[in-house]
Amino acid sequence: MPANYHTHTPLCRHATGEPEEFVDAALAAGLTEYGVSDHAPQIPEPFDDWRMSVAELPEYYEWIGRARAHAAGRIPVRAGLECDWLEGCEGWIEDLASRYEWDYLIGSVHYLGKWDFDNPARMDVWAERDVEEVWSEYWESYARMAASGLFDVVGHPDLVKKFGRIPAGDLSRFYEPAVAEIAAAGCVMEINTAGWHKPCAECYPGREFLDLACSAGVPLVISTDAHAPDEVGRDFQRAVDLARETGFRQTVLFEKRKRTFEKLV
Ligand code: ZN
Ligand code: FE
Ligand code: FE
Ligand code: ZN
Repeated sequence: MPANYHTHTPLCRHATGEPEEFVDAALAAGLTEYGVSDHAPQIPEPFDDWRMSVAELPEYYEWIGRARAHAAGRIPVRAGLECDWLEGCEGWIEDLASRYEWDYLIGSVHYLGKWDFDNPARMDVWAERDVEEVWSEYWESYARMAASGLFDVVGHPDLVKKFGRIPAGDLSRFYEPAVAEIAAAGCVMEINTAGWHKPCAECYPGREFLDLACSAGVPLVISTDAHAPDEVGRDFQRAVDLARETGFRQTVLFEKRKRTFEKLV
């Protein structure tokens, strides 16, 4: 099984489990590597209620250290962050990147302006917004995130579909420019299995986006966005099968922000 680089810790306030339990789950799932990528702190603080604070960063790095100690060479444990792409965040991301020896950074779009559109507590805003407009804004932001060059991996590409709010018609008008930008920037993209367990009932990204990304030569990782130990290996085989069926033949491994490739079997 490939590496799973998108997992969380209790520091984000909506995940559970001890580092030892996450490592054991990664070993049980037969993963090549286990990477921790909790929601990065965001300034100005207080920012929201679903991430660690800047002051908790040392504790986060210690948490990863505990995982490494427990793994004891049985599986590489990689250190990452899931960073939010926000207007004007570039300086902050560079600051975060310099604070520790990260193996990779994931960039995610969870915010459109001040609205965290994937937060079930903010569904009220969906009722007021035009779906077509939300999608346009989302994909423009996503493309800018890829083009920034700040992230090794772009996270859950079509997260905007989470609650099943999807515009009518051919969606390639959104996908094609985004895939072109991801490919041009040389970003790695993830298949994120969490979407199978959300109202959209489809992994992120869906098959059409995956086909375009594969044709464009975008490198791939497979991840589960685990917020608990029993989600570390969830649907991993299903995602591997989908990736192979789409035409992907390898996945990426990260160490200190350098890539190598692993054959996808
Ligand atoms: Zn989360
Ligand atoms: Fe996310
Ligand atoms: Fe996540
Ligand atoms: Zn995520």
